[in-house]
Amino acid sequence: MDGQVSAIQRYCVTDGYGIRTIVFLAGCTMHCLWCQNPESLSNAPRLMYVDNLCAGCGMCKIVCPLDMHGGEAATNWVKNYKNCEKCLKCADVCPYMALNVSSKIMSDEQVVKSVMKDEVFYRNTGGGITLSGGEPLLQADFSAEILSKIQAAGISTAIETAGFVTFAKIEKVLPYTDLFLYDIKAIDQGTHKKYTGVDNAQILRNVRKLARMGKEIIVRVPLIPGVNDGAEFTKIADFAKSLDTVQELHIMPFHNVGADKYRQMGLHYEMGDVKEDNEEKVEEARIYAESLGLRVSIGGSGY
Ligand code: SF4
Ligand code: SF4
Repeated sequence: MDGQVSAIQRYCVTDGYGIRTIVFLAGCTMHCLWCQNPESLSNAPRLMYVDNLCAGCGMCKIVCPLDMHGGEAATNWVKNYKNCEKCLKCADVCPYMALNVSSKIMSDEQVVKSVMKDEVFYRNTGGGITLSGGEPLLQADFSAEILSKIQAAGISTAIETAGFVTFAKIEKVLPYTDLFLYDIKAIDQGTHKKYTGVDNAQILRNVRKLARMGKEIIVRVPLIPGVNDGAEFTKIADFAKSLDTVQELHIMPFHNVGADKYRQMGLHYEMGDVKEDNEEKVEEARIYAESLGLRVSIGGSGY
């Protein structure tokens, strides 16, 4: 079976137990304003232009049917992005990796083969695979194929989800998923809708159901200044504590490392003016969650 994959990241230690490989699947059901993986927002491949890699060779200009690459280099394409037909011919010919594609089709066997290269590390550390995104459950059948093969090899499996999917999609991966990393961004409905674009009722319903079924869950919270780093965080931590199978909570401090990717894709990044310096709020959140008896760790790659 084939799926759309944004990236495969090896040697990660913050997205589940032990050393893990994170497979980012393309496509998302939400649109969080702070998303640091904009290349995973759409299931369709998009062009990304890294200007400081461009050598001005002009190859892209030769192949583009719409003459999108003006001058001697590719510097005009972002400006004209709306007209781009996304034929991706320019990315195919660029010799300097200045033009890249946000995701590509891979088979489940190709993903499994890539992940299993680090089998020895998983066996020595209790690590394994974590599917992330985007929303990996948008490709639930593909996710289930990958996870079932990795689990059959005796390797730990995890999935990071924002839970804004039908429970039928979760059920497809349920037998093959040892651990759910479950993102909760806000409990207040208005706040959730304002910053993620969607209602949170289904998200909260799904995680309650998973907990009742006895699945191990780690709740993850991207801590966003002015959005959920005060009273809203205490509501999230209280909610996490109320779930029987949640013993651990991850706080993912706000950062802007994805800002460049928006520029590379010709997209507007809405949180560019928000400061990263929120150590005090992170500490407050940690202390509160620990006071509830939750284990807390700081960090995580996907939000
Ligand atoms: S992907 Fe867009 S910019 Fe690149 S060759 Fe095709 S139309 Fe031109
Ligand atoms: S092909 Fe690549 S390196 Fe050459 S001008 Fe185009 S973007 Fe720059």
